[in-house]
Amino acid sequence: MRILLASDPVHLPSLVSAARSLSPSNLEAVSTARAEVPVDRLLIADVRVNDCWVDALTPRDFDLLLLPPTRDFKEVGARLAARRGLPYLSEALELELDGKVEASRMVFSGRGVERIRTSLPAVATLNLDGFEPVEGSPDSVEELKVDCTPRVEVIERREREAEVDLSKADVIVSVGRGLKRKEDLEMIRELASLLGAEVACTRPISADLKWLPEERHVGMTGVRVKPKVYLALGISGQIQHVVGFRDADTVIAVNIDPDAPISEVSDYFVVADLYEVVPRLIEEIRKRKRS
Ligand SMILES: Cc1cc2nc3c(=O)[nH]c(=O)nc-3n(C[C@H](O)[C@H](O)[C@H](O)COP(=O)(O)OP(=O)(O)OC[C@H]3O[C@@H](n4cnc5c(N)ncnc54)[C@H](O)[C@@H]3O)c2cc1C
Repeated sequence: MRILLASDPVHLPSLVSAARSLSPSNLEAVSTARAEVPVDRLLIADVRVNDCWVDALTPRDFDLLLLPPTRDFKEVGARLAARRGLPYLSEALELELDGKVEASRMVFSGRGVERIRTSLPAVATLNLDGFEPVEGSPDSVEELKVDCTPRVEVIERREREAEVDLSKADVIVSVGRGLKRKEDLEMIRELASLLGAEVACTRPISADLKWLPEERHVGMTGVRVKPKVYLALGISGQIQHVVGFRDADTVIAVNIDPDAPISEVSDYFVVADLYEVVPRLIEEIRKRKRS
């Protein structure tokens, strides 16, 4: 079983760990820079755009090509599979090999898991969450010349200056469309500050209303968080939001609608107006801090 990996050097150690768990007879990797990973052969390719990744991988031989589940590599995987006429498994949670490849993957925004099976050779992007990065020396390192004239020119790459990393927060106060005005975020910030919490939100609050920056929206298209406490204020609990906090230890939700779907995923569900609850919480916490 020949497994080929294509990755940036950051994801490569976890990808190698995942590939080794499948006991390949030969393990090769293509990376944009040298990495200390235990593979049979490491090929360093000067590829900067997805077009050239697809060109670099098109002539290569493999039974299974594995890529990290980043936005760019999902595109590379899909385009390569289409060009070569191979099956493509996107965002596999687990893979099993037995002459064919079987994968489990989330469906319906995380409401279910499906198992799919296909013939080899195949291309897959794999969720790397459960894999500890491995270190080691490649048996050989070679340069891979790629004959590619990119149709897309990268003019500039700039790191996004993130204001906050919500994935590391222990306590999160999150707001949804139950909040009526942008100014009311002040009381939410005050409550968060008293609780030593970070402020988060649903997508409409950041993407549509632009009241908070994008890195504060939790969910399928936002950040996945795992705090000890997630306090959800005026949030309905649509699945696209819920997948973002389902690893929270304790979820407390405040909603005026007793039938809001968030009641089903909350440990404590308070049917109340957040405009009554938040000021009273602030007052109570201040009182306790004073005494
Ligand atoms: C492809 C796709 C991806 C998406 N990805 C995401 C994502 O990553 N994250 C995300 O959040 N959303 C995402 N969405 C949007 C998602 O489907 C929901 O529309 C969104 O989460 C709803 O946000 P909300 O709960 O703030 O608003 P609403 O659904 O409008 O809910 C507002 C809630 O506030 C309650 N409320 C109103 N007034 C009060 C009050 N005074 N006190 C207390 N409660 C009150 C209401 O009863 C209601 O339950 C995505 C949608 C699509 C189609």
